[in-house]
Amino acid sequence: MNTKVIVCDLDGTLAPSKSALEPSMAHIICQVLKKHRFAIISGGSHEQFIKQFLSHLVCEDRYLANLYLFPTNGSACYVFDYEHNLGWKKLYDEQLTVDERKKIKDAFGRAIPASGVVTEEPFGEIVEDRGGQITFSGRGQEAPLDVKSVWDPDQTKRRKIVDLLKLEIPEFEIRMGGATSIDVTHPGITKAYAIGKIKEVLGVSTEDIVFIGDALYSGGNDESAKETGVECVAVSGPTETEKVLAIYI
Ligand SMILES: [Mg+2]
Repeated sequence: MNTKVIVCDLDGTLAPSKSALEPSMAHIICQVLKKHRFAIISGGSHEQFIKQFLSHLVCEDRYLANLYLFPTNGSACYVFDYEHNLGWKKLYDEQLTVDERKKIKDAFGRAIPASGVVTEEPFGEIVEDRGGQITFSGRGQEAPLDVKSVWDPDQTKRRKIVDLLKLEIPEFEIRMGGATSIDVTHPGITKAYAIGKIKEVLGVSTEDIVFIGDALYSGGNDESAKETGVECVAVSGPTETEKVLAIYI
């Protein structure tokens, strides 16, 4: 096994936002898993990982043992237990408490109407409880990409909601991500946090990790990965990621 650990963002890096992994990407990932340990970080939930990623990945169990999933920015971790033939299992899950979740959802319930931002006719839930994270999606969780991309391209709408939330629940981390979303978590739950968890769980150091992400730019939701000192590779999307991953086959 090669010592280099490949760490990838999911949305916009391995797969288009909230969309399924392409067969060509699934094939490359399986090839990489034969030689490297591979960790995936996403702001999304574990359920989203299954829907978007795992259900499209075809790879032998012995190689899946090299795959580590970190939903909700590393506040949970899932590993594949090949040795004991147990399949996927949860290694840990740092949930928000019931009271914290209620407080955040209530704050959204007041901030959204107060902001004047219109969220009518959503595609699915607007405020989703992901356990370790509460996520607002301006057009709903299931909105198609073309609908999402025109909703708040300059972040004006979300900034109004974020400003109101910051007054109500300053004890939480409130961040814009994706095209229409606002994520609320415990403070400090970022890609950098996930990378810290990867080091712990895999027992590796900064030099062993290469991180690949589509939002390493200033204000992007991968930017914090750079603070950790790991090697970072910026990509424009899955097509470019495939080229980068081919190096590790
Ligand atoms: Mg991304």
